[in-house]
Amino acid sequence: MKVTVLGSGTSQGVPVIGCQCTVCQSLDFRDKRLRSSVHIEVEGKSIVIDSGPDFRQQMLRERISQLDALLFTHEHKDHTAGMDDIRSFNFLQEKDMPVYAAPRVIEQLKREFAYVFSEKKYPGVPMVEVNELDGQPFEVEGIQVIPIEVLHYKLPVYGFRIGDFTYITDAKTISEESLEKARGSKILMINALQQTEHLSHLTLNEAIDMAQKIGADATYFTHLSHKMGSHKTIEAQLPNNIYIAYDGLQLSL
Ligand SMILES: [Zn+2]
Ligand SMILES: [Zn+2]
Ligand SMILES: [Zn+2]
Repeated sequence: MKVTVLGSGTSQGVPVIGCQCTVCQSLDFRDKRLRSSVHIEVEGKSIVIDSGPDFRQQMLRERISQLDALLFTHEHKDHTAGMDDIRSFNFLQEKDMPVYAAPRVIEQLKREFAYVFSEKKYPGVPMVEVNELDGQPFEVEGIQVIPIEVLHYKLPVYGFRIGDFTYITDAKTISEESLEKARGSKILMINALQQTEHLSHLTLNEAIDMAQKIGADATYFTHLSHKMGSHKTIEAQLPNNIYIAYDGLQLSL
């Protein structure tokens, strides 16, 4: 399995438009963070989790020319806004794109991308095959995926486990039952927004605590704000086996 970090930034990305802070002005490529998303290549299949506003740029940067499924964690715009660009895969693969999400998220996609779901479609609009998740494990082209529900303040969000890789984003609290589903993973990728308290996202210390509760061999933090600090300074303070993800990072397992 090969995992590629497509984006590791929070909703505004890093740098933030117009921001003069040291992180946004940093020349380190690891401080340039597109909106959070991850690509998983497993047994010849290609899966993306979330298609945020940077989806097109991410597909081009990583030269992804095959996409078998798109999984959505939740309906926030930084995770869904790029869905229109699955059209390229519709044209290349001559089939509808299988999309997997909770029913509530599908409803929101229908409102935001009404033209994709309308009865009479304008030629060339994205073509999706809708798959509603009910919280039970499911298969994508023969690959088993385990949804892991976490809470984003009060909003339920799905993390996903594929084999020994678990991806959780936009979590604030995680039930013991969900922690258990993530345990035994070799690699965990989980959100860590900033150092100061936030209503709906894990802070750095909370994410470290969560990483230790899950106990993966290696944990990578994603969905970072510019308020977190620079990649170099934060990673230097982390416990063993915990790292900061960055755009373009590839992990093999
Ligand atoms: Zn988000
Ligand atoms: Zn900034
Ligand atoms: Zn969110």
